[in-house]
Amino acid sequence: MIKNLYVKNLSNKQPTKDITLDDIKNKIPLITSKKKIDVRVSKEIVFSESTLPIISGPNGVESRELIFKIAKKIKSLGLKILRGHAYKPLTFPYRSKKYLETKNEGMDWCDEVKKYTGLNIVTEVTEIKYLDRINQTADILQIGSRNMQNLELLKECAKTSKPIILKRHFGASLRDLLGAAEHILVEGNKKLILCERGISAPHTHKETSRFILDVQAISALKELVRYPIISDPSHASFWANYVPGLTYASIAVGCDGLIIEMHPKPSESAVDPLQPLNFKKFEEVLIKSRKISKFFNKKII
Ligand code: PEP
Ligand code: MN
Repeated sequence: MIKNLYVKNLSNKQPTKDITLDDIKNKIPLITSKKKIDVRVSKEIVFSESTLPIISGPNGVESRELIFKIAKKIKSLGLKILRGHAYKPLTFPYRSKKYLETKNEGMDWCDEVKKYTGLNIVTEVTEIKYLDRINQTADILQIGSRNMQNLELLKECAKTSKPIILKRHFGASLRDLLGAAEHILVEGNKKLILCERGISAPHTHKETSRFILDVQAISALKELVRYPIISDPSHASFWANYVPGLTYASIAVGCDGLIIEMHPKPSESAVDPLQPLNFKKFEEVLIKSRKISKFFNKKII
């Protein structure tokens, strides 16, 4: 209960530097509402206390062949949501010759694959100008970490009434994340899913490791927020070898969903080739995750 998180005398005894009672009352009342919110995507898919949807797919919709191959794999494993990102924010402006954003064509492939497999599609909306096209196909809109506080984008996405995954920026406090979330909720869209995807930190693990999964943020958010909180261990770690452990840790702290990248030949992925799991590894992680989540009374879907 939110109330129990705080001492009566707010002055010096406030147990957090970050979110205050005044914030909860006046700045983020909707996102911190005590009412339990399940986010339903379809008849079969719901992010809730008892279900844990796993979203999987490649980093980007590179080709029709790739997206079909991965979608069929996801379907065969009994999962229901495919990430189909045809618009990609990249850290640097240079693009691999192998991969230019496939944009509208990529969305057409997502449309085909959706009809063929019945999978639901998550697509990142990088700019308002792409929203109309994405909205025709995607079942869930993703707002990427870099756009977390692109407030006009948040507002326009909220107006579609589609479920929205809002990713925490890697330098944002939970207070800023919840402020951004509030912008979506005030538009009347309650289908909100928050995503922890790693934060910037000194690189103590590997020279090129980019982020660190803030597992503790999942616990902290769950004290404050009753909307689903999901975890993206792939973007957080950048290293496929770390993804299994971080997946299990996320389930253990109570995440309500996961985003795990998968690619038939990870080294051939045009974007971030070190981070996707291959099919075999993904399957192993899924089997273990199903066992672990059962222990925590959650069903992976
Ligand atoms: C993504 O999901 O492809 C992505 C770019 O994520 P993030 O915004 O967390 O970097
Ligand atoms: Mn990515």
